[in-house]
Amino acid sequence: MKYLEEYRDRALVEKYLDKIHHTVTKPWNIMEICGGQTHSLVKNGIVEMLPHKVKMIHGPGCPVCVTPVHLIDHAIALSHEDQVILCSFGDMLRVPGSSGSLLEAKAQGADVRIMYSPLDALQLARKHPEKEVVFFAVGFETTAPAIALSVIRAAHAHIENYSLLTSHVLVPPAVKAILEEDDHVINALLAAGHVCTIMGLEEYYPLSGTYQIPIVATGFEPVDLVQGILMAVVQLEKGIAQVENQYARMVQREGNRIAQDVINSVFQVTDQHWRGIGKIPSSGLMLRDTFAQHDAQRKFALQSHPPLKDTGDCIAGLVLKGVKKPMDCPMFGHTCTPENPLGAPMVSSEGACAAYYHFSGFSESLAE
Ligand code: SF4
Repeated sequence: MKYLEEYRDRALVEKYLDKIHHTVTKPWNIMEICGGQTHSLVKNGIVEMLPHKVKMIHGPGCPVCVTPVHLIDHAIALSHEDQVILCSFGDMLRVPGSSGSLLEAKAQGADVRIMYSPLDALQLARKHPEKEVVFFAVGFETTAPAIALSVIRAAHAHIENYSLLTSHVLVPPAVKAILEEDDHVINALLAAGHVCTIMGLEEYYPLSGTYQIPIVATGFEPVDLVQGILMAVVQLEKGIAQVENQYARMVQREGNRIAQDVINSVFQVTDQHWRGIGKIPSSGLMLRDTFAQHDAQRKFALQSHPPLKDTGDCIAGLVLKGVKKPMDCPMFGHTCTPENPLGAPMVSSEGACAAYYHFSGFSESLAE
């Protein structure tokens, strides 16, 4: 398949790895922001093939993992309402709230449904005018355009029984928050190629300049990742800090203006609580007042209360900030597994804990 197979070319991966080995002279920590990149790095064994001096730090780019506990509790409470059909992406169903998950609510009889697109949820609302269809909208800038479009269509078609419970988060403010922490150890960043496809690169120039950090917009295939890492290492070794674009086949500096306009017409920026990290200013999206009738928080008068902390000893916050690796958690693979997740990073396919569990050889070693 064009634009896919050539980016999985083993010889090309080895060529870039070789260049990294010959370029690096000092220890560097490079954070990939996106959970999809974490997944690909671990699954393809790239983390182990890099020189010891190049350490990958896995960032907070898994939207399911950072969805706050109190919003999951709201979703579960709504799902138990007789008239509500609660819809969301599949990963969201297994993420633990303060007591249980949406999957457990479904097992108890709540009408909880997995959707691949918010437009499917809108269709469900059209078919069932006697019900209230609530879409638990979770994601980064990548899913926001489709979710915004569903609201525009609902408003145009006067489908008033469709609403969103939103937990939309924005990447650059989270990156800024991490770089402002005194104890951060990050020398360079791989920005998520799909987010940059929508939003462009403009937001990264001030980050790179202020924090003197190389930022490389990077794709998700093995060749993309090793090339992005090489570009970051070259900058670090030369002592420069610039924004570069490895994912030029998709990313343009200005991004996708049409998608940005759709997002901005429906959502406005707000402060957002990130699970395990805390409140980050201007890092979330909320529905504009003109779409209040499609906002589940307002429609169902959901109480806003102080965000709940994670329970137990889950160190997801430290994992999401790159301070700890999943294997540093004493519960990793023992009391916390994908079948019995104690924290969100073990649930989502983009979660760092699940990636290490499935692809680092840990699960095979348990079977031996
Ligand atoms: S292994 Fe489980 S308990 Fe430990 S940080 Fe990951 S999700 Fe949390």
